[in-house]
Amino acid sequence: MKGLTKWTDTIVAIATPPGLGALGIIRLSGSEAVGVVNALFPSKDLAKQASHTLHVGFLQEGETVLDEVVVSLYKAPRSYTGEDIVEISCHGSPYILQQVVHACIQQGARLATQGEFTQRAFLNNKMDLAQAEAVADLIAADTEAMKQTAMRQLRGGFSHDLDNLREQLINFAALIELELDFSQEDVEFADRTALQELITSLKAKISELVSSFKLGNVIKNGVSVAIIGKPNAGKSTLLNALLNEERAIVSDIAGTTRDTIEETLNINGVLFRLIDTAGIREHTTDVIEQIGVGRSLAKMREANVVVYLFDVQDTDTHAFQQQIGLLEKDGLIYLPVGNKADSKPLASLQKEYVHDDIIFLSAKDKTNIQQLKQALYDIAVGGTINTESTIVTNARHHAALLKIHESLQDIDAGMQENLTSDLLVLDIRRCLHYLSEITGRIEVDRDILGTIFGKFCIGK
Ligand code: GDP
Repeated sequence: MKGLTKWTDTIVAIATPPGLGALGIIRLSGSEAVGVVNALFPSKDLAKQASHTLHVGFLQEGETVLDEVVVSLYKAPRSYTGEDIVEISCHGSPYILQQVVHACIQQGARLATQGEFTQRAFLNNKMDLAQAEAVADLIAADTEAMKQTAMRQLRGGFSHDLDNLREQLINFAALIELELDFSQEDVEFADRTALQELITSLKAKISELVSSFKLGNVIKNGVSVAIIGKPNAGKSTLLNALLNEERAIVSDIAGTTRDTIEETLNINGVLFRLIDTAGIREHTTDVIEQIGVGRSLAKMREANVVVYLFDVQDTDTHAFQQQIGLLEKDGLIYLPVGNKADSKPLASLQKEYVHDDIIFLSAKDKTNIQQLKQALYDIAVGGTINTESTIVTNARHHAALLKIHESLQDIDAGMQENLTSDLLVLDIRRCLHYLSEITGRIEVDRDILGTIFGKFCIGK
C-alpha cells in the first residue's frame, strides 16, 4: 500500500471539467497546500486564517496577476482527504487554470494522479474502500437509480451491512478460539446449535447481496436491447418513437465509457442501450432465414433483451410462430412486438397471434410505446428498485461476496462434520479476510488499489 502515494507531497489538480466555464476550481492537498497558495496570495497570510473560511484576493506570481480568485481553506483533519486542502476558484478559462496550476507546481506542489485525492482520503481513514469506489460511481452516475445506489454506498450503507456481518463472525471466531485454548480439557464453550443458526443467517444475508448484483449490474451498466425484424417492419420508426421523449445523457469520464453505444434510453431511471441495431438491420434481409446464422445472431446474443418487431400487415401466424420458435430455441430473452396495429382492430390481432407477452403498437402513431417501455423495464428490473436496501453494483465486491459465501459453506460443512475448533477457525479467518477485502480494512493489494483509483478523474 505504501508507495502508492508519497505522503509528504502536496498535490494539485484542476477539479472542474476541461473547457470554458464561468468558474474553474483548482484543488491542492497536503501538508504544504496552504504554504504553496500563500506564496501566491499576497493580500493576507492564509496560514493564520481559520479552517473552513473563504478569502477573496489576487493570485500573483511576483508582479504578474494570474487571476482574482476565492480561496477556500479546509485544514487537516477536517477535509475530504484528511490533509490540508486549499481550493482556488478562478475564472473558468483553461488558460488561467493552467497558469495557476503551473504556479503551484513552481511553489513545490506536484500534479495529482487519477483519484489521488480520494486515495488519500482512504489511506487517511476518511472513508473505506467501498465508499471510495462509490465516489467514482457517483461522479459517473447518469441515471437516478445509479445515483441513489452510489449515494447509499458512499454514505456507508453497504459498509455498515458488512461491518455487522464481520462483527457476528468475529464473535463466533472468539467463541471457537476460546474452545481452542481449553482444548486439552475437552470443553465446548460454543453452543453449536446457536452457531449453526448464525452461519445459516449469515449465508442467507450474503446470498441476498450476491443476488442483488444482477440488478446492480443493470443499474450500473444498463440493459442492452436489440430491435430486430424484417426490413420495413418499422424498426427505425420505433427507434425514433422510443427516443423521442427521453434521450439519455451518457458520460464519457475515464473509466465509465461504455462500449460503442448508438442510442440510449432512460426508462424509470434505468439506462437501456439500443445496441448496434443498424448492423442487425443490414444483415437481416430476411429475418426468418437469417436469424439462425452469422453476425445478426452474434449481435443479438450481445443483447440482454431482443425486441422482435413484426409488421402485422405482413407477417402471417405461421411466420410469427416460426420466428418465436427460433428465438426460444436460442434461449434469448425476447419481447414480441406487433407493429402497425393502427391497421387492424386489436381484438382481431389478439385472436390472430397467440402469445402471452405480445405487445401491439403503432410506431408511426406512437401508441402503446409506453407499454413497450414498461415491458422492457419489467424484464430487466422485475419490480420497483428499493434503493433503501443494499444493491451490489461493483464486480469486485460481487467476486469477494462469492468467496465469502463459499467459505461460509465450508464453515457450515465443518460444523455438520463436527470439525475440530482449530480447523473451523481457519475457515472463519478466511471468510473474515474476504469481508475485509471489500472495505479495505486489511492490507489490499497494490494492484487492486491501482485499478480502483485509476478509474477516477484527476482532481477527485
Ligand atoms: P425498418 O426498415 O424496419 O426500419 O422500417 P421503417 O421504420 O423504415 O418503416 C417502414 C415503413 O413502415 C415506413 O413507410 C413507415 O412509415 C411505415 N411504418 C412504420 N411504423 C408504422 C406504423 O406503426 N403504422 C403504419 N401504418 N406504418 C408504419
